[in-house]
Amino acid sequence: MLPEIVRKFANTIFLFPREESPILSTFQKIIPLSIRKQFRPLRYRCVAMSKLLRVKKIVTKYLGPEYAPDYKGIEIDITYHCDLKCFYCNRFCDVLPPDVNISIVQIEKLVRESIELKRRWLWIHLSGGEPTLHPHLKEIIDILLDYKHTFSPRTAIQILTNGYSPFTKAIIKQLPPEVEIIDSNKKGRLQNLFVKTTQAPIDLIGSIDVDFSNGCPIPLCCGVGLTPYGYYPCVVAGAIDRIFGFNKGRRSLPQKNDTMIDLLKIFCPYCGFFPCYRPFKIKTEEDVSPSWKKALNNYSTSKPALTLY
Ligand code: SF4
Ligand code: SF4
Repeated sequence: MLPEIVRKFANTIFLFPREESPILSTFQKIIPLSIRKQFRPLRYRCVAMSKLLRVKKIVTKYLGPEYAPDYKGIEIDITYHCDLKCFYCNRFCDVLPPDVNISIVQIEKLVRESIELKRRWLWIHLSGGEPTLHPHLKEIIDILLDYKHTFSPRTAIQILTNGYSPFTKAIIKQLPPEVEIIDSNKKGRLQNLFVKTTQAPIDLIGSIDVDFSNGCPIPLCCGVGLTPYGYYPCVVAGAIDRIFGFNKGRRSLPQKNDTMIDLLKIFCPYCGFFPCYRPFKIKTEEDVSPSWKKALNNYSTSKPALTLY
């Protein structure tokens, strides 16, 4: 791999690098917004092209993987039950039946491991599925608040809800004030910004010579993922595992130097978030790429058996 300073400079060529791009910020300072707006379509095309180039094996060999899981925060899929079933749900609630909920024992295990490894999370996201549908949400929150009060006062305990049903709204009102509510306030199944999660990049022509260890920004923004089946670089990878059945979740809290590159290489080839966002279209059968068709058929005949965390 190239020395760090050379890598940083080279990364600025790619317009959405992990680091702040000096080229981009200089451009923003000297060119007025009205002119910049006219160049936006061109810029987006350049970004898409640079992304496709950045994830090629030859480029990754010299620059290293672009993203890596971050252990600042953690996102927990506590349930796969959801009352909305949005098209392109990235936990696949629209195409799969719900699965086991995370148990109280598993939450206690997470807290125990976090204390043992001195892991003070900046945030703990409770998501899913619709987290308010977990029958033991109150107990889960009590355990996490206890961890916060006794060990990690800066941890933000946050619930990511769709805010859709009267039931969910009522549960939200009953939560302790220390719990932060992130309400996406969904009104129906159609979400304009969702990507086609069931389109495996490995099925696309442009995936030849791609290094999937590059991942995407999601693990950085949302934190490492935990599902009933273990830890993953992100919760999306955990959701993919329950369909494809690789059974690769880590069954204990990874050390901070665990980059989970082995898991990115397994799951990112099947994830619609890799390597760039795609425009939304109304759902059609063609939106499910061949690898996904095969996995969903296999699932319908025999659900993969995954080992619990
Ligand atoms: S509300 Fe969230 S979890 Fe439920 S189907 Fe929509 S995207 Fe998926
Ligand atoms: S599995 Fe998907 S969401 Fe997770 S890092 Fe890979 S591309 Fe991103």
